Order: sequence, then C-alpha cells, then structure tokens
Amino acid sequence: MISLSHSKTFKGGVHPYERKVLTENMPFEFMPNPKQIIIPLTQHLGKAAKPIVKKGTEVKAGELIAEQDGFISSPVHSPVSGKVSKITVGANVIGFPKDAIVIESNETNEIVFMPLLDPEKVTPDEIRERVKIAGIVGQGGAAFPTYIKLSPPPDKKIDVIILNGCECEPYLTRDYRYMIERTNDLIAGLRLIMKAVGVEKGAIGIEDNKPDAIIKLTEAVKDYPNISIEVLETKYPQGAEKMLIKAVTGKEVPPGKLPFDVGAVIQNIGTAIAINDAVAKGEPQFTAALTVSGLGINQPKNLIVPIGTPLSDILDFCGGVKENAVKVVVGGPMMGVAQYDFSAPVMKATSGILVLTDEEVNEHEESTCLRCGKCIDACPLNLIPTKLARLSSLEKFEDAEQLGITVCMECGTCTYTCPANIPLVQWIRFGKQRVMALQKERQSA
Ligand code: SF4
Ligand code: SF4
Repeated sequence: MISLSHSKTFKGGVHPYERKVLTENMPFEFMPNPKQIIIPLTQHLGKAAKPIVKKGTEVKAGELIAEQDGFISSPVHSPVSGKVSKITVGANVIGFPKDAIVIESNETNEIVFMPLLDPEKVTPDEIRERVKIAGIVGQGGAAFPTYIKLSPPPDKKIDVIILNGCECEPYLTRDYRYMIERTNDLIAGLRLIMKAVGVEKGAIGIEDNKPDAIIKLTEAVKDYPNISIEVLETKYPQGAEKMLIKAVTGKEVPPGKLPFDVGAVIQNIGTAIAINDAVAKGEPQFTAALTVSGLGINQPKNLIVPIGTPLSDILDFCGGVKENAVKVVVGGPMMGVAQYDFSAPVMKATSGILVLTDEEVNEHEESTCLRCGKCIDACPLNLIPTKLARLSSLEKFEDAEQLGITVCMECGTCTYTCPANIPLVQWIRFGKQRVMALQKERQSA
C-alpha cells in the first residue's frame, strides 16, 4: 500500500482546476502521416540546425535532414519518407516564423534506424554520443539539447538524477500515459541517464493525483534499490526544476544557479523514453507525444505524431473544434502559447494542444491592485510580483533588476491568483526581456 498522506512539496504555488479527466484514460494513438510536413530548423534552444537537403531531395523517415550547428544546437531527422519540396520561412508554435524544411510525404514510410546498442554494455560516452546524434532535446518545454545536460561540468558533483513525473500543468496527460504505458522503457531510460552522468541515485517525482502511475512505477523499481519514487503534493508549479529539487531533496537552488550547483540533474519523462528508444531501438527523435484536450475539441486524445505535422491536421484528426471554442493554446494553460496560425507545426517538445471555450478561458476585466498580497504568497520564488509588474509597466527596469526580475521563471502562478486580473506575468516577462537586453549591452560595453 502506498501512502499519499505525506506528499512532499514547496512553499507557495496554486491549485488550478485540473481537467485531466478529459484524457487521462485515453491510451496513445499513432496519428497517420500528414501529406505535408513542415519541420522548423530550430526545434531546440540554441542555434538552428543546418539543412543538408535541398528542394527535390528524396528522404526516408529517420534520415538526417539538418545537422547540428555549434555546441548548443541539435540535428533534425525526417519523420516521414518523401521529397523535400522547399526550404522556407514558416509559421511556428512559439510565435515567430522560422526557417523550415517542407517535405511531401509518400506512402512507403520506410524508416532508417541507427545501429542498436546494448543498454547493459553501452559506455557513458556512447550514450552521450547517441543522444546527440539522435537529436534528443528536453521534453519539459525549454527543449535544451539533452546531450549537454548529460555532461555536467567536471567541478560539479552530481548526486541524483530526478525524473520529472509531476505534469503539474492542468489538462496535460502525456507524461501520465508514458508512465502507465511505457513503464519499463522509462526506467531503462533513467538507468541510461544515470550511467551517462555517473550517478548512483535516481528518483522519480510524481504528484499524488496519479496513484496508478505511482503504483506501477513502485512495482517496476523494486529490483533497483537505488531508484526511489517520490510522491509529491499536487500543486502548480511542482514540476518547475527548482520546486522539484526542493520537494525531492530538500535543497534550494539559489537565484542565478542551476540544478548542477546543488548536485541534481533533472530530466523529463519523455526525454528518458526518447533516450531508451535511441539506444535500444536505434530511433532518432522524430515524433512528439502530446495531449489534445479542452472542452472545445470534439475528441480529446493522447497522440504520437510526426514532428512537423500542422496543428490543423491534428485538430481535424481529433474530430475538429466545437462552435464554442475561443482559443487554441500549445502547451499547458499556465505557460502555453496562444496560436493564431494553425498551419504552424508540432515540434519535438510540444506537450499539448488545448482548444478552450469561454468557460475555460475565464478572461475578466482588469481592475486596480487590491494590495491583497496573494501574488506574493503564491510566488514559489519569493518574488514580489505586484511590484515587479508595476516597475515594468513604468519602464523602471533598473529597479526591477534590483528586485530580482530575471529570477522569475514565468510560471504564471501570480497571474492565476490575482483577484484584480492583472496580467502580472505578461508585464514581468516584458520587464525581464528588457533587463536582460540591458545586461547584454553592459557586458559588451
Ligand atoms: S511568474 Fe514569476 S513572479 Fe509570478 S509567481 Fe511565477 S516566478 Fe513568481
Ligand atoms: S494579487 Fe493582484 S490584487 Fe493582490 S496584491 Fe497582487 S497584484 Fe495586487
């Protein structure tokens, strides 16, 4: 019997309406290949990949189409067999048009796999190299190239690898389905990460609203005493790196520092599965697993889709949008990005597509600050959101810098909790961008 009564957590945070029930019992379905795939060269944080194909090149699924360009970059593979029709600038789910390779898919769907590696015999260097050439990027949102996180600086002693199984954003159930459907592959992926980093201890942090996943994973790790299942309170943003580390290890990551600095490496559930698939199955990362949900979509689903699939194809595959749908968001409702062009394609790190109705969007008119302090109590990083937002709106960027605006992780908790409906995180994001630009100018002066 697993006790959920002493779940660990962090200070602050909020409890948004979850709505995971819409998709949590929907097993993954594979979406058929669309006719046309649009693959942005920037699937990751860092420099865009460099195309190695041109108009007319025939490609097979799994073949390299753009190579890594620089240290913080990642290669891109074709998710389908077909012919490159153009390299162009196309719509992008992160909001800015980007260079992309467009492929017209054919029926053959031949897949090119990399040679298989034996997970028990593979060396740490071979794991890192495989993760690098497979184009694996973090599935937690930022899409940082994973091979870099597997190579911590030599002066940082890493004690624990933590897999993030919180999935604290409302609606999303992709990670939950992975934990239920691919339990053993997930543990195998975690063991590969531990081997690559040279760490004895592994942990999987899961919110206590996923008892089935907790039971399955607890059973799956019973032969690995060095891997623990950590049951965490269901609270947003429990899955943010700093909050997860605090809940699992009790350690605080100081402002401006990284998980490495307190001896931890965090990886997402989907990333661990992708690492297992690259090593044991020879599969590069050319699909995305995502939840399609919200009261505005006719058939909510969990899907595996080829990267580069346009949002419109996915919405059609899910029965289309309802008449009362008012907003489409890529990601979760707290940190996701509203979409205006449904030709934008799915990327490697896309975790969800939400079609929301008026009832869910809940946009009320903004009023003046009530000085209730709720945003301050809720901020998990002990910032003063009301002041940071005000300073940003007054363009007092240096004062905002002094108050730590660059520490903000843009989780949106403050905005969610504000009874005056002040778009705090939007103002803070604006101020943070300006402060970071100022800091860059100072460095180059
Ligand atoms: S968005 Fe920033 S200021 Fe607001 S709660 Fe999150 S970390 Fe705090
Ligand atoms: S929660 Fe909103 S109303 Fe309350 S102090 Fe913060 S900004 Fe003001």
